[in-house]
Amino acid sequence: MTKILYVEDDVSSQRLVQRILMAEGFDVVIADNGISAIETGRREHPDLILMDINISGLDGYEVTTRLRTIEGLENVPIVAVTAATLRGDRERALVAGCNGYIPKPIDVDQFPDQVRAYLVGMEDNVGSAEEKAEYLLEYNQRLVSRLEEKVRELEQANAELQRVEKMKSDFVVLAGHELRTPLTVIYGYLQILLANPAIPGSKEEEGSPQHLLSKVSEAVERLSQVIQDILNVSLIDANRLDLAHEPVFLNSVVQSVLHNLRSFGPQRQLIFELGQGLKKVPVIEGDPRRLHQAIWNIVSNGIKYTPDGGTISVDAEHLEDDVVHLWVKDTGVGIPPKELTHIFERFYVLEDTALHRSSKTAFKGGGLGLGLAVCKGIIEAHNGKVWAESEGHDEHKLPGSNFHILLPVGNPFSKAEKG
Ligand code: ADP
Repeated sequence: MTKILYVEDDVSSQRLVQRILMAEGFDVVIADNGISAIETGRREHPDLILMDINISGLDGYEVTTRLRTIEGLENVPIVAVTAATLRGDRERALVAGCNGYIPKPIDVDQFPDQVRAYLVGMEDNVGSAEEKAEYLLEYNQRLVSRLEEKVRELEQANAELQRVEKMKSDFVVLAGHELRTPLTVIYGYLQILLANPAIPGSKEEEGSPQHLLSKVSEAVERLSQVIQDILNVSLIDANRLDLAHEPVFLNSVVQSVLHNLRSFGPQRQLIFELGQGLKKVPVIEGDPRRLHQAIWNIVSNGIKYTPDGGTISVDAEHLEDDVVHLWVKDTGVGIPPKELTHIFERFYVLEDTALHRSSKTAFKGGGLGLGLAVCKGIIEAHNGKVWAESEGHDEHKLPGSNFHILLPVGNPFSKAEKG
């Protein structure tokens, strides 16, 4: 069956041409814009293409020129079908690569014969060689100015995107600060209440006022952690993360991370191993609070993805070129190799979000998918590197994961500040 591709964005014209040609035994495929015409042409290899010139986006001239460069379509008859009746329209269609021109409205009686004639090789001519050269030159100039116009549109769209992106990040930063302030007050009062001996019960006594208050306090801490993560990701995205330049004792940072994590949630049966290397690495220059957060995020993941009975080990070594290598290894469920880089992207969570369970330390307790993105942002702001290794994900064999961090010992910001 002879296949005809009709490029047309007007639905009633599509229907009319389809009805006439199908009644004559042709197979008709429709594309309603330039880009889809190029894709359909490449895929369907039609025997003839009917091209409306005035389509949005890439116009019919440009689509024709592009189709001519596609393997297998160099010699397919392309016929312009258009209501454009300005002087030179026909010639412009021919120099762009069309073989012929059928004006709109189409003559219903003659149309099938016109199509058949082009199918067997009929060709329209532009005229003299000089005329053709003149139209070609005009067409080329038109292409260049259309290209210029599109580049300008893209630049404008890009500037607008950046403006909206900045508005979004300003909003998130502001909203984060606004939310954090009352939360800090709530947290402060909660601590006062918890320390008050007049409040009956204890943290361990289920249902007692002390126990309930400690649950509220945990939830408030969790909430401020989430706000902190969202805030940090926006600051990192906008390159606005301010870092302190202070001496950092990685051993103390790791100790404090573990101390802090141990105080959360129901006690998990996990073994924590701190390697001797941590005590030997030199003091580095950086932001201790931010590095605390980066390491906290990795260790808390280790806890979340390691079932009870497992081990989380942290150790470090001093490498050549004055770089400290710190690693956090767990004996948990592991990560599929193809996801090892994606997990550092923001909002990336491997688990089914329908099964989402928010927790800092519970086994497989999920988060927002920001933890590792924040960690990467902080480490890279220190001119460091972070990556993960794992042989795969297996909840029975527990292959485990190993997270590595490299941090320069001195002057870590010189490169980042230049950028
Ligand atoms: P969240 O803040 O939600 O915990 P992260 O950015 O920290 O998200 O982690 C992204 C994803 O990487 C997690 O959803 C998890 O599937 C996977 N992941 C991170 N750390 C580990 C780990 N130690 N073991 C197994 N999977 C991990």
